[in-house]
Amino acid sequence: MSQFEHINTALIHGGISNDARTGAVNVPIYQTSTYQQDGLGKMRGYEYSRTGNPTREALEALIAELEEGVAGFAFASGMAAITAVLSLLHAGDRVLISSNVYGGTFRVLAKVFDHLNISYTIADTTDAAKYEADITDDVKAVVIESPANPLMTVTDIREIADISHKHNLLVIVDNTFMTPYLQKPLKLGADIVVHSATKYLGGHSDVVAGLAVVNSKELAEKIAFIQNSTGGVLPPFDSFLLIRGIKTLGVRMDRHVANAQRAAEFLQNHKAVKNVYYPGLPSDPGFAVNQKQAKNGGVMISFELHDNYNIETFFESLKLVMLAESLGGVESLVCHPSTMTHASIPADIRAKVGITDGLIRLSTGIEDIRDILADLDQAIAASEVK
Ligand SMILES: *Cc1c(COP(=O)(O)O)cnc(C)c1O
Repeated sequence: MSQFEHINTALIHGGISNDARTGAVNVPIYQTSTYQQDGLGKMRGYEYSRTGNPTREALEALIAELEEGVAGFAFASGMAAITAVLSLLHAGDRVLISSNVYGGTFRVLAKVFDHLNISYTIADTTDAAKYEADITDDVKAVVIESPANPLMTVTDIREIADISHKHNLLVIVDNTFMTPYLQKPLKLGADIVVHSATKYLGGHSDVVAGLAVVNSKELAEKIAFIQNSTGGVLPPFDSFLLIRGIKTLGVRMDRHVANAQRAAEFLQNHKAVKNVYYPGLPSDPGFAVNQKQAKNGGVMISFELHDNYNIETFFESLKLVMLAESLGGVESLVCHPSTMTHASIPADIRAKVGITDGLIRLSTGIEDIRDILADLDQAIAASEVK
């Protein structure tokens, strides 16, 4: 539960938002590995910074409040957060993953947890009946992303959570693309939310970080134990950067989403564009479900150009929008999922889930939308094969 009724206030004052000892309006960067003890067994709440650090704790309290969960945990990357959460599983267990799950989540399951005899099945979380049929006795958890990258496939989180709980599965939602500003999975029935805070929460493409929030004390104890045991914690300075980023999440997201909506409409009406994937467009198959569970369609858009446009020329012709992995920063970025973000997914699976070689993903920044659209327009024009 949040102490504030409105998230724009919680973003700034939530969690532990200042320093009780000095009155500093920002939580200091407690750059220390260890803490003096007043006597044997007499600690002042901290003993070692892998176990606990006041700057990291402030961030953890903040994300727990924003996601309306019981406890939050900060990790050195989104993948470290996801790995810690998947470490709840035991040998012999199976995880269901939605078909467009983040490439790194797929990779850690297919190439790391696989060695530990924890297996996965790619499930269609957009179809409740098909999904339920994939729940075999060994399935213990599901990982959902909505919208899922790169086709922005929308999953009805409440529906999948309800079915999953009937079968005692742990429901894990990667909320990186929406952030708690646009969507709160724990309120839709999820047990655990994970984030690559590298993206919108950090917001400035200058920190790699991961977060997890759980909905029960029992899960909080387990994740705290795993976090301390495996040690992939977020350092104090990076925790400070994230707190700083989160303060402006609301204003950034408002601009990001407004720009994305304009960009999606521009692309949809462009003669060179074959398909646009964006759940903020009423024509998108995920529009209605997304509207039910999220504030709006979010920021991420994917699109395909018609065959008479050369996408290599398109990428090389962009002057403002940068070709780069990642998303969620103030600057606009494009990427080529099949050779970049989703290259770790085998080609046959990519083809099956619709990640074509012509697909372009756009992370709309907060620049002036006229400059973003003009750049896309001139790069599309330059890429036409005459
Ligand atoms: C980037 C990303 C991750 C991985 O996070 P890192 O911070 O890069 O480790 C996980 N899930 C989604 C949806 C992402 O976009």
